[in-house]
Amino acid sequence: MQIKTLILGAGAAGLMCAAHAGPGTLVIDHARAPGEKIRISGGGRCNFTNLGTEPARFLSQNPHFCKSALARYTQWDFIELVSRHGIAWHEKTLGQLFCDGKATQIVAMLLREMEAAGAELWLQTALRELTHADGTYTARLERDGRETVVQAQNLVVATGGRSIPKMGATGLAYDIAGQFGHALVAPRPGLVPLTFPEGRFADLAGVSLPARVTANGTSFDEALLFTHRGLSGPSILQASSYWHEGEEITVNLSPALDPAAHLRAARKGAGKRSLTTELRQILPERLVGHLADHLDLSGNLADLSDKRAETLSESLRNWTLRPSGSEGWRTAEVTLGGVNTDGLNSKTMASKTVPGLHFIGEAVDVTGWLGGYNFQWAWASGAAAGRSLAAG
Ligand SMILES: Cc1cc2nc3c(=O)[nH]c(=O)nc-3n(C[C@H](O)[C@H](O)[C@H](O)COP(=O)(O)OP(=O)(O)OC[C@H]3O[C@@H](n4cnc5c(N)ncnc54)[C@H](O)[C@@H]3O)c2cc1C
Repeated sequence: MQIKTLILGAGAAGLMCAAHAGPGTLVIDHARAPGEKIRISGGGRCNFTNLGTEPARFLSQNPHFCKSALARYTQWDFIELVSRHGIAWHEKTLGQLFCDGKATQIVAMLLREMEAAGAELWLQTALRELTHADGTYTARLERDGRETVVQAQNLVVATGGRSIPKMGATGLAYDIAGQFGHALVAPRPGLVPLTFPEGRFADLAGVSLPARVTANGTSFDEALLFTHRGLSGPSILQASSYWHEGEEITVNLSPALDPAAHLRAARKGAGKRSLTTELRQILPERLVGHLADHLDLSGNLADLSDKRAETLSESLRNWTLRPSGSEGWRTAEVTLGGVNTDGLNSKTMASKTVPGLHFIGEAVDVTGWLGGYNFQWAWASGAAAGRSLAAG
């Protein structure tokens, strides 16, 4: 079978690319259903983009690489597409847009777009062998127990990263990159809960509060959640993408209110109140109990000197912690690193060295913050490759 373009992976980026690449395009995926990560994303409602999308919200060894694709296919383009398909949506918080109904509406929309463009989809299809000679990619595929050989002028690798192997994530994109001489930025788990030695926060499991978490100089003001394994919640997931094994993070447990000023003010009118009682006004009760095991929280407010109030405030606002690790690929929402962008054209996602080869989506070393940014990268990079293939 001879085709123009073979896309490996029917996830967010692959489907978007097919919708733009048009006739002569075949998308294959080893999964039973397309867009499985879209289906489960955003608690089943898919946080499909973010109003605040801008290059600064993406991590990459080359922070400039994502600019062109993001500018050519914006959050507004995707919102227009969603609205054109009659999918109702709302802004939840921090510019994050979610479907009012099920995330499967987004998958159905992409399939409709892809079919309208004249592209075909084969599911439960495995790639057994891939070669490239004389300007043609030859893929030996296995579908329904039968072998099919497909020859294509172009190959788009859209098989994502390593996160959540249970959902079908594989390292195929990295293997293909290696096969064709493309360098990798070491893949590592991102947007992932951080772990601590067993029992460290066991007494706090389930406690959540607004916090500012800083890793490697980048801070996030969002909810923090204590778990049996360690720390989670949006602020930790965000910071985890900036954190490396062995490093410390700092946690500000009271980002919006200066505890020292609060305690000094309270001391004036309620000197007999215990320090722990007053702290419970600004922090969850179980957290105050936990902190009392590590900090001196004895005595009444009247006994609290300005200096001690400042020291306590500093402890609460600059809590330094060294995670022992992360929950890893099992729960990581994304993969940091991937195909090194130095080898790719930022306008088309095409390889600079191998004609017709493209890498898009999470397989590439571009990773967004939590909040719809990773899908926007999948849409933008998919559209960039698809449009250039349609024009070629
Ligand atoms: C639980 C969870 C929730 C998320 N929620 C959000 C969210 O709300 N908003 C957001 O922006 N991002 C979210 N993300 C991240 C987002 O899902 C990904 O960044 C995005 O799906 C990447 O798109 P992709 O097309 O590059 O890869 P994927 O969507 O992962 O698609 C890759 C496809 O390739 C297929 N494949 C893999 N290996 C092979 C192989 N060897 N042979 C054949 N096919 C293969 C897979 O089956 C899959 O269909 C979430 C991720 C997870 C895990």
